[in-house]
Amino acid sequence: MPTEGPLVDRHGRVHDDLRLSVTDRCNLRCIYCMPTEGMTFLPRAEVLTFEEIVRVAGVARELGVRSVRLTGGEPLVRRGISTLVERVAALGFDDVALTTNGILLAPIAEALAAAGLRRVNVSCDSLRPERFAAIRRRGELDVVLDAMAAAEAAGLAPLKVNVVLLRGRNDDEILDFAAFARDTGRVVRFIEYMPLDADGAWNRDQLVPGREVVERIDEVWPLEAVRAPGDPAPADRYRFVDEKGEIGVISTVTEPFCGTCNRLRLTADGGIHNCLFSDAAHPVRDLLRSGGSDEDVAMLLRRAVWAKLPGHGINEPGFLRPRHSMSMIGG
Ligand code: SAM
Ligand code: SF4
Repeated sequence: MPTEGPLVDRHGRVHDDLRLSVTDRCNLRCIYCMPTEGMTFLPRAEVLTFEEIVRVAGVARELGVRSVRLTGGEPLVRRGISTLVERVAALGFDDVALTTNGILLAPIAEALAAAGLRRVNVSCDSLRPERFAAIRRRGELDVVLDAMAAAEAAGLAPLKVNVVLLRGRNDDEILDFAAFARDTGRVVRFIEYMPLDADGAWNRDQLVPGREVVERIDEVWPLEAVRAPGDPAPADRYRFVDEKGEIGVISTVTEPFCGTCNRLRLTADGGIHNCLFSDAAHPVRDLLRSGGSDEDVAMLLRRAVWAKLPGHGINEPGFLRPRHSMSMIGG
């Protein structure tokens, strides 16, 4: 394992994108992420403090990490989130972004932008109020649509909208979302349903392949692929041929992009994970709390990245679902 230079895995891939899950708590209970009842959350003492998060992010920055995204759980339920954004942004990342369900976004969009946030992804799985509420189990569509407008007014643009498609539940809205992207200039990203729900209810029949989404939209509004050379972004990007905007598909299950994945993740309780689907956490919290040095943290990050497997293995026999749900590891 190299002890200098950027963070590389054993396959030679540089990892320069850090996802910080700042809480495992959430004000919603989406059907593909959390159970209605019975979710247990981390005791407060086990959650990394702002100081600890900033310290790990700072070491990662020194090791060449260029972009950072705050996520969760719902990052906006963490008290003082703007302060955390400010402290992380001060570390000098090229990009500081946040993924949110949007419920609490509108009132603090300006403060987040002023703190150094550059971009925001807002999750929204239906443009029909009743269906939105049924999928997310709580929350109102209008609040989230208003939040998108508030974020744009604060300069957090272009805004991305994350849509998880479930067969028979909201896949009849693919064209509605494409029209929404065309009308608003927001980049709608269709995410395949992954085996990261807390109920363990995932099955392949419910997932809507990204390729199908592209074909259905392309029949109505022709699309062309956009890809910057060497771009490791997981979303396959497509622009409308008539230049009325862009969509993306994240086909994690049907067309895995593990070979170009450049991400590492820090969970709210200080586990460093080299893959969304990896249960193996490289624990940094005890190291931080027992006087570990920045060099120790750097070595842990290096070891975590180096240990990365070639792929997530979802499509291979013997794949074991991770013990964690998406809300615990951060999207
Ligand atoms: N609470 C924030 C939100 O909902 O945007 C941030 C965290 S959430 C875990 C991040 C993203 O993961 C969201 O866009 C959400 O829809 C997506 N997600 C959650 N569970 C998923 C699953 N089982 N498969 C695919 N995407 C999922
Ligand atoms: Fe909360 Fe986001 Fe999970 Fe929905 S997807 S339950 S909003 S963490």
